[in-house]
Parts: sequence; structure tokens; C-alpha cells
Amino acid sequence: MNSPLRTEPSFPFDNSYARLPDRFYAKLAPTPVPAPALVRVNDGLARELGLDPVALASPEGVAILAGNRVPSGSSPLAMAYAGHQFGSWVPQLGDGRAILLGEVVDRQGRRRDVQLKGSGPTPFSRMGDGRAVLGPVLREYIVSEAMAGLGVPTTRALAAVTTGEQIRRETMLPGAVLTRVAQGHVRVGTFQYFAARRDGDALRVLADYVIDRHYPELAGGDRPYHALFEAVVGRQAKLVAQWMMIGFIHGVMNTDNMSVAGETIDYGPCAFMDIYHPDTVYSSIDHAGRYAFSNQSRVAHWNLACLGQALLPLLGDDEEAAVEDAQTILNGFPALYEAAWLAGMRAKLGLLDPHDNDAEVVKELLQLMAVGEADFTLTFRRLSQFGADGEPVRDLFKDPTAFDAWGLRWQGRLRAEERPDAVRRAAMLAINPAVIPRNHLVEEAIQAAVGGDFTVFERLLSVLAKPFDDPADPAHYMVPPRPDQVVHQTFCGT
Ligand code: AMP
Ligand code: MG
Repeated sequence: MNSPLRTEPSFPFDNSYARLPDRFYAKLAPTPVPAPALVRVNDGLARELGLDPVALASPEGVAILAGNRVPSGSSPLAMAYAGHQFGSWVPQLGDGRAILLGEVVDRQGRRRDVQLKGSGPTPFSRMGDGRAVLGPVLREYIVSEAMAGLGVPTTRALAAVTTGEQIRRETMLPGAVLTRVAQGHVRVGTFQYFAARRDGDALRVLADYVIDRHYPELAGGDRPYHALFEAVVGRQAKLVAQWMMIGFIHGVMNTDNMSVAGETIDYGPCAFMDIYHPDTVYSSIDHAGRYAFSNQSRVAHWNLACLGQALLPLLGDDEEAAVEDAQTILNGFPALYEAAWLAGMRAKLGLLDPHDNDAEVVKELLQLMAVGEADFTLTFRRLSQFGADGEPVRDLFKDPTAFDAWGLRWQGRLRAEERPDAVRRAAMLAINPAVIPRNHLVEEAIQAAVGGDFTVFERLLSVLAKPFDDPADPAHYMVPPRPDQVVHQTFCGT
């Protein structure tokens, strides 16, 4: 019986992507599931979006989050895109297991997509079942929210539900749906999709859409599509540099997994490093290390070359000149990335006055960390404590004496600076996290959840929401995994 007091979730949808031409998507509703049950609603994010978290958690809300009910004002669709997967061209990918419900304008006036992931088959599903399973849904929830806490541009997790279905993977696993929020879901692969079809009109419509939505300051400029390419290059350079500051490995940097809005998107076999090594790879499918930690800027550059290629028809009628312009913009990437990386690393080391050899100082430390098998996060956290009580950095290195010479030189640099110790310390502690979603912690939360206990997941989320604060239980959340806890491989779970 319907009670008059029931809270009907209302989404103030305004769906700009659904107003684009038909060939940009397939319009269809999510496929209902047998027994939706709420895992959690992200209350803070809901409020930021102008949504009522209580209504979202009600049976009507959960029906929407599971795809059993299409909310009023939604215009559900699966987006079309293509992409290079591990370097191989795939002319048609598209949302094979996601449905964009619509867009809402958040409290800051930013337009945000609300998308269900795991919501059933679409015309883009190819051989897939259109579903997601609980483990990867929780992994994306945890890691994307951790990234947000760390200040890295990212898609967000608004909610997770279980579906009551068992999904066939290597074994039968509980089905789940993630509600993802993004500034947008246009990917490098979306441009590639239309470029490959020689659909210049669609390319122009898409580029205008992206400018209007993500780069409005470029509209009406002299050469807006050149400016767009340049702006995307700039945002990606900054984004990947931010990943490198926190030891984040995306794991599947295919061109369909690179958002032109500059957000981290499509969390699959992603992972944070414990022990630093530049060649670190966790993804079970990345055999050649294409997406290894230290390869990420090169891959971003490669992906941006694909974007440049796709944009060529918009860069002028003279093809040779267009290629040259695209190349010039693309060539700017390494310097932009290096500058963002160096600025970030200098800040992580608390260095205010620039010196010519700063890059060397950083690289020497990284080299010592790699050889000494030092924990990435703890090294910078302990360096931040320099001059106060705290555990010695040197103890993190297999051979502590190997760190000492570098440590002394670094201390000399700090002493030569005007900034008082306490001020520097506060600045460093505010950017060098105490907690990251270490693989074993994520795994522990998933295992407990699959067994029906979501409290481990909830506690981890609350700690990760404040990654720069020392957690109440540092012995659990800050320490690297014991040998028996080390996660060697991560899986995309598709
Ligand atoms: P991803 O590796 O998650 O970025 O996905 C790559 C492509 O495969 C995208 O087009 C997805 O929509 C599609 N895909 C992944 N998993 C599934 C699935 N279970 N069912 C249908 N399509 C999927
Ligand atoms: Mg993807």
C-alpha cells in the first residue's frame, strides 16, 4: 500500500546529451533486477547534487538505483564510443553495461552525469552480460571516493546496490550496480568513434558540446578546436602528474577510459603502490606493462595523439597544416607534464625555493626508494614529520644507511629556506597522505562485504574521506601489508 508520507526521490534532470543527434547513443532503459538491496548512499555527494539522501535510500530510491524504475525526467541512454584497447583499435565499444540516467546541475552550478554501471545489456554489450559484480563495484566506490578525498579529479560514487542476482564470472558472484557521477562521460574514444566514421558533422557537434560543457571559456575564440585540444592536453598532463604524487596506477588507460573533462574514470584493476617501484603493474591483463606506474605519462601522451588525430578534420581544411598544428600542441605535453610533476614533487618534499637540480634530488630519492623497497606513501608521510617526533624515514629502507646521505642533503635544503619548520610540516602533511586505499585494505573490505558484513567497507570509507589526518587506528590503516596480505594482482572483473 502506498503511504502518502513516502518520499519519492526527485532528480532535477536536464539532459543535454540526450538532445544530441540520435547516432550519439542508444536510448534504452536499464534492465530490472530481481531483488534490489541498498549497500549505501553517499549522503554528502547526494546533497551536493541537490538530491535527498533519505529519499534515495527509500525503497523507491533503491528501485531507481538498481535500474528497476526510471525516475521522472530521466532520458536513459547508452553512449556510443570507440577506442584503442592496449593499443589495438576497436571501432565500436560504447556503454555495454552502463546507462546514463541524465544530468543534474549541482550546488556549484556544475552539470554532472548520473549513470548506472552494471545496469544490464545494451546494443553495445558485444558478448558481455551488461552486469557488474559486487567486488569491482565496491572497489570503484572505495577508490574513486579515496581519489576525491585526495583532491584528484575523479568520477564519484553516489550509491551502490546489490541486485539479488548471481553473475557468472570465473565463479558465480553477487551482482551489483554502482551509481556513478561524472562531470561528463565523453572520452577520447567518443571522438575516435565519429572520426573513424568520417562523420565530420558529428565531430563538430561533439567538440562544441565538450567546449560548452567543460571548457566554456574557449567558446567564441579564434580557433576553438585548437584551443580545445590544447586544454585537454593540459588537463591530462596535470591529472597524470597527480596520480604520480600518490602512487596511483590506473591499470587500463585505453583511449575509451580517458575522459576529455580531465577526470580519472573507469576504475577497473586500478591500484595504489605500497613499495615503490617504477615498473609496478597490478592488472592481471597487462602482461607487457603497458600501463605500469612510470609509463602513465607516456600512455597519456599516446592517447592524446589519438585525440589529435580524431580532431584533425576540425583543425582546418588544409590537412598538412592541421597535422602540423596538432603535432605542435601534442609536443607540448611532455613539458607540461614534467612541470606539473616537478612542482608536485617539490611540494611533497617541502621545498619552496627552486634549485636547478630539483628534478635530480627527487629522482635520486625515488631511486633509493626503489632499491631500498621503501613504502611510497609512508616515505613522504615520514619526511613530512621531519623536525617533530615521529618514526624515522630511514627505517623504511632495506638498508637505512643508504638513505642517510640523501636525507642530510635534503635537510640542508630545508634549513636554507625561510619557512619555519612548523609551517613546512603542516604544508607537507596536508599533501602527503597518511592513508591510501591499499590493496589489502580494499580486498579486506570486499571479502567482508561478499560475506555480508559491510562494516569493514564503511570504516575504510570513513578513514579515506580524511586521508591527510592520522587515522585513529594507524596500525591497521597506515602500515603496509604483511607478506601474507600482499595483493599481487588486480582484476577488471568484467
Ligand atoms: P572497461 O574495461 O570496463 O572500460 O570496458 C571496456 C568495454 O567493455 C566497454 O565498452 C564496456 O561497456 C564493455 N564491457 C565491460 N564489461 C562488460 C559487461 N559485463 N557486459 C557488457 N559490456 C561490458
Ligand atoms: Mg571503460
